[in-house]
Amino acid sequence: MAINIYSAKELPLFEASGRVSYDTHMLLRDYIKPGVSTYELNQIAQGYIEKSGGKCAFLGYHGFPGCLCTSVNDHVVHGIPSKDQVLADGDIISIDLGVNLKGYFSDTAWTWPVGTISPEARKLIEVTQKSLYLGIKEAIPGNKIGAIGEAIQKYVEANGYSVVRALVGHGVGKNLHEDPPIPNYGRRKDGPKIKAGMMVAIEPMINQGTYKVVTDSRDKWTVRTLDGKLSAHFEHTVAITSDGPILMTLPKGSEVNVIKMQHAAMTKERN
Ligand code: MG
Repeated sequence: MAINIYSAKELPLFEASGRVSYDTHMLLRDYIKPGVSTYELNQIAQGYIEKSGGKCAFLGYHGFPGCLCTSVNDHVVHGIPSKDQVLADGDIISIDLGVNLKGYFSDTAWTWPVGTISPEARKLIEVTQKSLYLGIKEAIPGNKIGAIGEAIQKYVEANGYSVVRALVGHGVGKNLHEDPPIPNYGRRKDGPKIKAGMMVAIEPMINQGTYKVVTDSRDKWTVRTLDGKLSAHFEHTVAITSDGPILMTLPKGSEVNVIKMQHAAMTKERN
């Protein structure tokens, strides 16, 4: 499949979609507390996205039953929101969501602490988020896609964590998933050349222990770590431009929405 190239005129449409995605995450952040169910979070997100004129891009995608993917603790991705899944103090939750606004898709994930979490869990979240920004910095015309994964993998492994291999980032655009695949591991000389006009979803999924994962045999969706250790996930939809990467899923003009974005600023944003 060919890699789609989007025009500068389409950027505001992606930005509008990305803004709904970002605002949904920030709305959810205030509800993430011990005692809330992932079903409640799902309903809040769906209500907000639909009120904003968008559609939940995941709902019904290959039959997925939720608007959000809610993945708690050792769940890596694709967790199904449920009334039976109630968040507890010390949990971490990865929330992944996609918005289709007027035919333009955005895809973004954040991992949040629930109440007070262990220093180990906090470090995993911070390293995962920073690895995303290091990957985004490599998303410039002239580099190959492999440069993104190499930057992520080096940083993550230097911190003693592992990069999930079984799932990767992807192109995004007028479809939720487009070419090219964007591994969070690999070598900078590998993969297709990055070109201005590409729209990509970069999404490191980082494990505390082994990189190996299993899909839940009962619900056929939830991907878990093989060893039961924690996993974290961050994702942004990123426009490749000749001026560098621009994040569609952060507010326009946001302090961190430039190639030199600093993790410190992101942490401040979150807290
Ligand atoms: Mg994605």
